[in-house]
Amino acid sequence: MCEANSITKFISISYIVFCFVVPLIYLFIYRLVVKKRRRDYHRAAAIAIIIGGILLSVKLVAYLLGDNCFNCYLNNECFKEVDNTTSKEVTKSEKTSTTEKITMTTTTKNTTEKTYKKVTEPAGVKKEVGKTSKGYTIETIDDVYYVDGYLIVNKSYPVPKDYEPIDAYATTNTPEKSCQNCINKLAYSAFNEMKADAAAVGINLWIQSGYRSYQLQNTLYNRYVSADGKAAADTYSARPGFSEHQTGLCFDLNDAGRKFNGTTAAKWVAQNAQKYGFIIRYPEGKTDETGYMWESWHLRYVGSELASKLYNNGDWITLEDYFGLTSKYASDN
Ligand SMILES: [Zn+2]
Repeated sequence: MCEANSITKFISISYIVFCFVVPLIYLFIYRLVVKKRRRDYHRAAAIAIIIGGILLSVKLVAYLLGDNCFNCYLNNECFKEVDNTTSKEVTKSEKTSTTEKITMTTTTKNTTEKTYKKVTEPAGVKKEVGKTSKGYTIETIDDVYYVDGYLIVNKSYPVPKDYEPIDAYATTNTPEKSCQNCINKLAYSAFNEMKADAAAVGINLWIQSGYRSYQLQNTLYNRYVSADGKAAADTYSARPGFSEHQTGLCFDLNDAGRKFNGTTAAKWVAQNAQKYGFIIRYPEGKTDETGYMWESWHLRYVGSELASKLYNNGDWITLEDYFGLTSKYASDN
């Protein structure tokens, strides 16, 4: 990862200078050494401009793809120098004092880590409906499944058609039934803190898709089935009623697609999401467990306690594996 320091600053500025110097050298050689006629000199100038343009474009593309050093430079982060450990700690302490819900634990002298609470189950009649293969009790409250107090949605455990996020930051009562902010308040506030810490190292994170209603998921899923067929669509899109997006406990980041995999942002998220109570819900190589392909951009909020267990030093454990759950549709239809 590229740190905001004087080396980054030097590299970034050198590159910009390089973009102008190379065409100038080209022109100099053409004019003084080759000594071509005036018309040729105009052509040489055009080529020089193109060379400079290409060099700048390379960095522009790198910037759009999340090149951290360059982002760092463009966001002016590099000029704040490295001393962000102390300044960040102060900001965090200030924030914490105003947020009663979040408790703070000090792990080392220089690192301050917060504890993000899990979303509590709603009040309602609990029914025990079975045990997982690892001995956890599966319960329902108003036809929503919970294991160890965590809401579970996958191909085996749907949510009712009319289920809506509990304690959402913004109302889900929007005509399009889709919105980035209509997610649980704890998840939303944890995201904003993660976003701020990512921005401090030059990474831009945003929620591309948060809450999605049953109706919207139905539209999306049918669109994917028409395009790719049912079998393929089932590997990357949930059937309506089986999408975690209906719960308001998850969201898709940035481009929300395969091109996000392997980017600097994706790597940072995979290494840091657990600090904010998030898990990579569909990790790489775990399709047999989750029922879905790798989605580096889909984060589920579970709170610090479970997230730190599933993080497993970056080799993310799935909810299915941890609790002993299946994720398979009851029928092919
Ligand atoms: Zn998603």
